[in-house]
Amino acid sequence: MSLENFRSEVVEFLQNNCPESMRQPVREESDTFWGGRNATFKNADQEKWFHVMAERGWTTPGWPKEYGGGGLSKDEASILHQEMRRLNCRPPLFSFGIWMLGPALLRFGSEEQRLKYLPDIVNGRTWWCQGYSEPGSGSDLASLQTSAVSDGDHYIVNGQKVWTSYADKADMIFALVRTDNTQKKQIGITFLLIDMEWEGISTRPIKLISGKSPFCETFFDNVRVPKTNVVGEEHGGWSVAKYLLTHERSNISTAVDSDVMTPLSFYAKKSLGIGNDGILKDPAIRAKVAEWEIDGAAFKFTLDRINQEMKAGHSAGAKSSFMKYYASELNKRKYELRLECQGKRALAWEGEDYDEGKIARQFCRSKGNSIEGGTSEIQLNIVAKHILGLPGK
Ligand SMILES: Cc1cc2nc3c(=O)[nH]c(=O)nc-3n(C[C@H](O)[C@H](O)[C@H](O)COP(=O)(O)OP(=O)(O)OC[C@H]3O[C@@H](n4cnc5c(N)ncnc54)[C@H](O)[C@@H]3O)c2cc1C
Repeated sequence: MSLENFRSEVVEFLQNNCPESMRQPVREESDTFWGGRNATFKNADQEKWFHVMAERGWTTPGWPKEYGGGGLSKDEASILHQEMRRLNCRPPLFSFGIWMLGPALLRFGSEEQRLKYLPDIVNGRTWWCQGYSEPGSGSDLASLQTSAVSDGDHYIVNGQKVWTSYADKADMIFALVRTDNTQKKQIGITFLLIDMEWEGISTRPIKLISGKSPFCETFFDNVRVPKTNVVGEEHGGWSVAKYLLTHERSNISTAVDSDVMTPLSFYAKKSLGIGNDGILKDPAIRAKVAEWEIDGAAFKFTLDRINQEMKAGHSAGAKSSFMKYYASELNKRKYELRLECQGKRALAWEGEDYDEGKIARQFCRSKGNSIEGGTSEIQLNIVAKHILGLPGK
């Protein structure tokens, strides 16, 4: 089928199958469906939208069909993505399995692991969380200390992870553990898949500045993990970890890119009103909004260019750091401006009239963008070293 025909079919499918309410911006946590063993839908529209997409493998359009994916070519997947964005269709499934673990399993997993885990990701049956950071090992991730000691065909895992988003809701965790203490710190790390229901695992929520609490501390107390759950080589988990991080970072930038589709001027006009000439009255805010929209458009074109390069077979590599850095800055600027547009109203934290402080809470949450997935300073270090070729450690 030609790409033109494919596009027409996609548009027809989306128009017929994506309910109107699933074509509205995500407003709150329950608007996002994360799946999992105990999955519940917010409403019938969310359920319908998820099922029609999962049936076609279009929750992961570019993954091979044998693992439940859509089997689309890069061009077809990109058309589906473009049309979903154009029609404002929400992602049917939000998932660290899709954004992070899946690509790593496709590259480093055994065939048995792919067949076991990927279809459950596509069909929203498993909610995965990420066990990388530890107290004392964030930016310097390779210094992590959670230990996995060999015991026959199992490991015994002990230690603590921190900032584990959604650990209290997730079914499984992909975790970095130390299996060798005697070599260079990057060498003794292993990438393990662990069921959150196994004995010895506990979580404790951490409250964020936004008032929400998706974060947890995660504790491992003599947890027995079969060695068949190692992804890649024993002691060789650092390569898997780094590859996964490039996907995490690209994904954070793409998430912000989708948001660029709703122009900031739309919100500014709503908050401040417009003059008879149809433009924002306040020239200072108008200039800042215009500057943000121009930067947003330039970023979108840059992302499109990088996507084209990836389609041609070049990996995003260190560019994912540049993308993640810039996307975080754009998102933070956006919420600073949205607060500025709202004036004193923006300070409200509660109350129906103030949308339960939604903007103020999102403003606080946006600050986390320059920490999650690796801090802005670390991204700038990577850009300096690997893109600009500047000297460094
Ligand atoms: C919203 C959010 C969600 C998260 N979700 C998860 C998750 O699901 N799973 C998970 O494992 N982790 C998660 N994290 C943790 C995140 O990956 C770490 O917070 C991050 O890597 C930074 O580590 P740290 O907090 O230990 O800070 P540190 O590494 O202690 O850094 C402190 C400060 O020092 C700076 N710094 C450190 N080293 C250098 C250097 N070499 N050069 C210049 N500056 C430097 C940093 O930029 C930062 O400003 C999440 C974090 C946030 C905010």
